Amino acid sequence: MTHSPSSIRINEQRFKTNFEALSRIGATAAGGVHRPALSAADLEARAWFRERIEAAGLEYACQRPTGDAAGNQSAVLRGNRADAPHFLLGSHLDTVPNGGRFDGALGVLAALEVLQTIKEAGYIPVVCLEAINFTDEEGAHLGLLGSRALTGKLTSADLGHPNLGVEEFESGLSRLGLTRDGILGAYREPGMIAGYLELHIEQGPTLAESGEEIGIVTAIVGIRRLRLRFIGRADHAGTTPIPRRRDAGRAACTFTAHAWEAVLRDFTDCAINVGNMRFEPGIFNVVPAAVTLDLELRASSKQGLAALYDALVHLAQQESKEAEVELEITLAEDIPPATMHPTVQPVLIECAVAAGYTYRSMPSGAGHDAQSFADICPTGMIFIPSVAGASHSPKEFSHWQDCVNGADLLLQAALELAHVPT
Ligand SMILES: [Zn+2]
Repeated sequence: MTHSPSSIRINEQRFKTNFEALSRIGATAAGGVHRPALSAADLEARAWFRERIEAAGLEYACQRPTGDAAGNQSAVLRGNRADAPHFLLGSHLDTVPNGGRFDGALGVLAALEVLQTIKEAGYIPVVCLEAINFTDEEGAHLGLLGSRALTGKLTSADLGHPNLGVEEFESGLSRLGLTRDGILGAYREPGMIAGYLELHIEQGPTLAESGEEIGIVTAIVGIRRLRLRFIGRADHAGTTPIPRRRDAGRAACTFTAHAWEAVLRDFTDCAINVGNMRFEPGIFNVVPAAVTLDLELRASSKQGLAALYDALVHLAQQESKEAEVELEITLAEDIPPATMHPTVQPVLIECAVAAGYTYRSMPSGAGHDAQSFADICPTGMIFIPSVAGASHSPKEFSHWQDCVNGADLLLQAALELAHVPT
């Protein structure tokens, strides 16, 4: 199938004006943005976003000024049947502490711009088109809170363990007029969700280094977080002969060194991180009695993640045996990889080619709201280059032309996937 791009284009100037206005909410002296979910700056951004939706003549489709039961905020352009399922375009307006201007904000504003452009062109979609700002993607309290609540992936158990504690979480929610008990009410039946598209900065150096203008995401990596606890025996660090020690520190360190070797040799498309090691008792002159090691594994396929996991668990068992220590493994978190839909990727590629953009298909090493949708509706993601790969920092930057290209591609893909007769 050949595809010619629609003649309509986003309004670059309006898109830029909106981007600059939003960048000022929570702006830091270093040129970044500090807008964690449920903070005063987040609240201000929500009020601003709602105002933009209404100024655009779009429907603000939430019960509260601050959003739905999970605080997600939506602009809707009705289809020719007002109760038709919704095709969602979105991302998030929250940032990490002292983050950048582009992560999340770009995708939400591009989604709004796409709806406004389609509305102005007088096109009426078959399904309803929705631009959405999801609550707390970055996890100030609970990562992907809004998109997980909407897709039924959040549980009451999750809501009992927010990152900053229940009290802080509830006080943030009350600022938005929300309650912890109410959040799961943001759930929508999968049949009412026609699809999901997200534009996002890459947050890594691949596109900036290759010179390609667009990344078509193939999958969002799965993440498995493990606590390995090596349990040995405390002994005098001077008088106990080395061969007789049961040194938990030795096992943790040789495991780490060999895990890195294994990944560099056999799992070059995966990533690991040893984020922390806690030694007990943790002093100069006592052989470590126990070490707890925080290990994170990332891979873009289920099979890849399982193979990496098996190899590292086997290695940890070997090193424990070698050092004559015990090993306990606890699974702290297990997020499966999310494959982008096989029918959406080719449409994104066709639209990119038709518009003359150079592109590459690539996995996403970072988590995104799109992963909440991957198993319930046709889902796709578009990346644009991040200069020097910088992200989650005030140095985060993308050239404006790349932002415009990404938003235009989002528009073309939305017209195609939401079956907007043009
Ligand atoms: Zn993001």
